[in-house]
Amino acid sequence: MDTAIINTKLITLQGHGLGIIDDGAVAFSHGKISFVGKTSSLDKGEVENIIDGRDHVTMPGLVNAHTHTGLTILRGGAQDVPEIEWMNRALGPIARHLKEKDLVLGAKLGVIEGLRSGITTFGEYTTNIEELIREVYQPFHVRVAATETINEVISDKTKIGPKDVYELDPIKGNISLGKTEKLHREYADTKLVEILYGPQALDMVSPETLDKVKESASKLKAKIHMHVAQGERERLQVKGRYGKGATTVKILDELGMIDDDLIAVHCHDTTENEKRSLVEKGACMVGCPSSISMIDGIVPPVWEFLSLGGTVGLGTDQAPGPGTHNMFREMRTIALLTKTKYRDPTVLPPWQTLRLGSLEGAKVLGLDDTIGTLEEGKSADVITVNLSRPNMTPSVDFPFHNYVANLVYSTTGFEVDNVIIEGKFIIRDGNFVQVDERKVVEEVQDRAVTLFKDATDDWEDSESHLVNVFRKGLL
Ligand SMILES: [Zn+2]
Repeated sequence: MDTAIINTKLITLQGHGLGIIDDGAVAFSHGKISFVGKTSSLDKGEVENIIDGRDHVTMPGLVNAHTHTGLTILRGGAQDVPEIEWMNRALGPIARHLKEKDLVLGAKLGVIEGLRSGITTFGEYTTNIEELIREVYQPFHVRVAATETINEVISDKTKIGPKDVYELDPIKGNISLGKTEKLHREYADTKLVEILYGPQALDMVSPETLDKVKESASKLKAKIHMHVAQGERERLQVKGRYGKGATTVKILDELGMIDDDLIAVHCHDTTENEKRSLVEKGACMVGCPSSISMIDGIVPPVWEFLSLGGTVGLGTDQAPGPGTHNMFREMRTIALLTKTKYRDPTVLPPWQTLRLGSLEGAKVLGLDDTIGTLEEGKSADVITVNLSRPNMTPSVDFPFHNYVANLVYSTTGFEVDNVIIEGKFIIRDGNFVQVDERKVVEEVQDRAVTLFKDATDDWEDSESHLVNVFRKGLL
């Protein structure tokens, strides 16, 4: 065995709960977990490298089931505006100035931030995903469910008023679909990379292209990762395109898109019956609590989907609005928002929320045969969380494990001090082994100052809510 973490509070996530083993040990060899159990049962003579995991929780790496890390370079750029303005008038005028390499830089920052807080798998979603695979995920040795955005809305969005039905360009859709198929072939046998199909949303892709996406994804046995029923913008567009009674779920159903290959992100603009129908047909749901409370002012219906028996993961979505790529923060946020929404502290308890940020996210992305639990034969995607920090103290094992609650409610994310992906240390004792974190932070800082400055005229011309706030001297 290469390495073992011993004397640790092991959260295996095996079984229905957390699968806690007191004074546990996990060992791995050639990237795979080879032992999970009590420290006393491990044959330490066979282990080359022993790590004392005392005062630490050791658990599966976290899964960020939906994210656009490239936009991290625009952190703080678009929030606190009406939903209808968010994409085209708040983020758009700045995002228009992004160059391809800016998204790579932003992704490096977002992934570094995610790794720091224990994320080992990213459900990444962007145009030109291949560049992020090659420039970020592969060199950093990070697991990615990579989704190429398929979006047919014409490139010049200034021509589109808030009430106009988007003009679509099928050539754009065909190009992105072709890219996805090519990536699928190229990365079919590549470890740490899984290719998904990414029609961005029902209002941004024609039904003809969605048909082709479904056919191609079925043939290649790949999942379809899609924003579904996000809010007012999409609702108005869908009614404009498909008629008054149309809803996203109805149309997707007619197109035969709702089944266990669908990863439906957001889903908050759905009726009770539509939620039930999504669950019954096997679609998985992803909630992005920080992002969606910020963009839409609503609580993602995570609890509703769970109550219906659905499979649900969590995602950080984008940084310009809600701020961070930190799954501990997402777990805490969804727990608190849901308890508040229902005025019921018993909903979404930490033993359930912790699973959403890890194993359930792995199920959503179709990766639970490989990751999501500490189990012999699975990939060694493992993190340790230091419980000896002031905000995590005390941690006790008797009469119950109080650190389960502390992991959701008290953790900042920066207590994560070892991050291992497929047996390889990415962060060791709090430091990146290979990734040059400082260099990336400095590069993003330098570039973002210019980028925001270059967008000044476009941003001011947008007359968005934020511009008015700025003119009052508050921003
Ligand atoms: Zn998204």
